[in-house]
Amino acid sequence: MSISASVASSAGSTVADVCAIIERIWPVAGAASWDAPGLLSGDPGAPVISIHLAVDAVPDVADEAVAAGADLLFVHHPLLLRGVTTVAEDRYKGAVLARLIRGGCALVAAHTNADVVETGTSAVLAAHLGLIDPRPITVGEAPSRGIGRVGRLPEPTTLGRLARQLAEILPATASGIRVAGDYDRVITTVALCAGAGDSLLGEAAVHASDVYITSDLRHHPASESRENAKVAGGPALIDVSHWASEWLWLDVAADELRLALPGVIVTVSDLRTDPWDFTIVQ
Ligand SMILES: [Zn+2]
Repeated sequence: MSISASVASSAGSTVADVCAIIERIWPVAGAASWDAPGLLSGDPGAPVISIHLAVDAVPDVADEAVAAGADLLFVHHPLLLRGVTTVAEDRYKGAVLARLIRGGCALVAAHTNADVVETGTSAVLAAHLGLIDPRPITVGEAPSRGIGRVGRLPEPTTLGRLARQLAEILPATASGIRVAGDYDRVITTVALCAGAGDSLLGEAAVHASDVYITSDLRHHPASESRENAKVAGGPALIDVSHWASEWLWLDVAADELRLALPGVIVTVSDLRTDPWDFTIVQ
């Protein structure tokens, strides 16, 4: 669909129209086989005047969307990714869906299909760091599309300074920025994956980088990477909040939706849906 065609259709956009725009920007064909993006609840024929964006469809976000009068909540994480046997309202997923349905707010997700595109979650984090010649760590159907990004910093920095830079770029979370490596290690090439990225630790592009930035690094993958790096070389590790690393993408996604749907109000949630509330630093 051309921009002019989408402008014409936005005069009276429906949930189905917005889903078509979402499919154009973040095609479901790019999603992983285990993923479940797309329309999760709502009437495809319902009108859409305003869209609210968030990383997670949790009850606070659903309440915020309904209170704001949003007709469609667009999230990164599909609410019904794993098997669900009830949508009773004494469970949070049922409560979220019920509140959204009663509030007349559809729910749509773009998950791994939003990770792989040129303006996806990792690409946005790479852009915030100013990475030069960013390319996917694992290439998808096109060379410019795929999971994660690797590129060069505009000028070398140290691991410590890069971690501090990330602390400035990312919204604040209780877990902060965790680092494995020497504070003064010189960093030129950066591999990163917004969201959970420990599955990419074995990739050649990650191994060849000075640092790998991702989220949810577990003990064993992190420990093995660190010890292998001591013996055979490899990246330092920076572990950031999963929510924070993906929240950056929402502003870019909102701009893309505004461009495609100029008659529609698009807002981004500031609610912190990172699950951690505080840390005791020893
Ligand atoms: Zn995620």
